[in-house]
Amino acid sequence: MRKTGGYVCAVLMAGLLSAGQAQAADKIQNFNTEFQAGELIVKFAPHFETSAAAKVLAEHGGKVIRQFRASGALHVSFADKSARSTMNIAEALAASSDVEYVEANSIIRLENTPNDPSLGSLWGMPKISAERAWEISTGDRSILVGVIDTGVDYNHPDLNANYWFNPGETGVDANGNEKKTNRIDDDGNGYVDDFRGWDFANNDNDPMDDHNHGTHCAGTIGGIGDNGIGVVGVNWNVGIVGLKFISAAGSGTNAAAIAAIEYATKIGVNLTSNSWGGGGTSEPMRLAIQEASDAGILFIAAAGNATSNNDTRPSFPSNFEVANVVAVAATQQNDTLASFSSYGLRTVDLAAPGVGIYSTTRSNSYASMSGTSMATPHVAGAVALMMSVHKEMTMSQLIAKLYASVDRVSSLATKVATGGRLNLEKALQP
Ligand code: CA
Repeated sequence: MRKTGGYVCAVLMAGLLSAGQAQAADKIQNFNTEFQAGELIVKFAPHFETSAAAKVLAEHGGKVIRQFRASGALHVSFADKSARSTMNIAEALAASSDVEYVEANSIIRLENTPNDPSLGSLWGMPKISAERAWEISTGDRSILVGVIDTGVDYNHPDLNANYWFNPGETGVDANGNEKKTNRIDDDGNGYVDDFRGWDFANNDNDPMDDHNHGTHCAGTIGGIGDNGIGVVGVNWNVGIVGLKFISAAGSGTNAAAIAAIEYATKIGVNLTSNSWGGGGTSEPMRLAIQEASDAGILFIAAAGNATSNNDTRPSFPSNFEVANVVAVAATQQNDTLASFSSYGLRTVDLAAPGVGIYSTTRSNSYASMSGTSMATPHVAGAVALMMSVHKEMTMSQLIAKLYASVDRVSSLATKVATGGRLNLEKALQP
C-alpha cells in the first residue's frame, strides 16, 4: 500500500548528557515509526487532573481529542503540524515528572499485498474443511465480530443481512424520534447515533467502506451462504460490526485503532478481526487489548507481510503478549507459507489461507486479494463459528481448541507455534 501523511524521524535523543534528559528520552515512544505529525498520545500521572493536563497541553498549542478508557492516556492534537515541533513538544512534556510517557501517533498499514493476483477462487474454504464444518454449524447472527479496518459495505447483497445494528440506537426515543437520527447518545456509549458502528477515521457514524479491504475481510468472515450469489464466508450467519479507522487512502493511526478497540469492547462484541499493523508498540493499545481480553473478547491479528521473523523483529498488534491475541500467518494452496508472510515459532500462532482469496468488495462486486490480512478473517470467522457450537467454552478454552485442531504440515513446523494451518471442521468437533 501507499504510505501517506506520515513522517519517520530518527530518535534524536542520542548524545543527551544529563540523567534527567536520559530519563525523559526513555518516556518517549514510536518516533522511530512513521507517525502523524501534529498529534501525540500522552499519559499523565494518575494524581494529575485531566483539567490540569489540558492546561499544560494548551501551553503547547495542544487540544485533547479524546481520553482512552483502559489507559487514561490522552490523544492530543497540536496547532503546529510540523514533525519537528511535534518532537520538541514530546521532549518538553517528557521532561515533566507529571508525565508518565509520550507516544508518537504511529501510522498503521493494511496487511494486504500490492500485487494481488487477478484470478482467485474460494480454494481456502475446502482447504480448511469448511463444507464438512457447515454440516455441524453455519453460524449464529448473535455472535458479533468487530471488523476493525477500512469499513464495511453494509449494502453489499452478500453481507447486508449479516450486518449488525446497534439495538441501543435503533427504534424510537421518548419524544417519538428515531434514535438513529435524533443526535442523542441514546445508549450512553460516548458516540451519537452509532446505529451501525463508527468511523474513527472521519469521526462520524457511517463506517461505510471507501477502500475495499474491510469489505473483503468481512466477506471471508460472513459472506451470506446459500443465497445463490457470489461467495460464502466461514459463517453463513454472523453479526458483522464495521469499525472503520483506516482512510480511503489506506492509512490509519494508533490513536484511531485504540478508540476502535475500546468501542468494540464497550458494545460487547465476541471478537475482533485485525488485518493491520506496523504502528510500533503502544502502551494505551496494549491496555485496550488487555481490557478486551479481561472481557473475554478474542483479538485475531495479522502477523504481517514483511517476510520477517516476529520473534526477533516484533510486529504490532500481533506481538502483544495478551491472552486474547491470536497471531495469524498466511499460506498458499499447497500449505506452504506465503512468500510475503511474517512468521515466528514463539509469536505467531497458526496459519490460514491468504493468497488469491476471493471475497466481497464494494458496490456489489468481488475480487481476489492476498495477505496475512486475508488469512486473519479466516481465523476470526472460525472462532465465531466455534462460538456457535462450543457455547460453554471460555476464551482460553476456545483458543486452546483452535490451536489443537490445526492440520500440522511440515513446512510450517519451524514457522508457527502450532506448526499448522486452520482446520474448521476439527475446530467444531467436541
Ligand atoms: Ca451511542
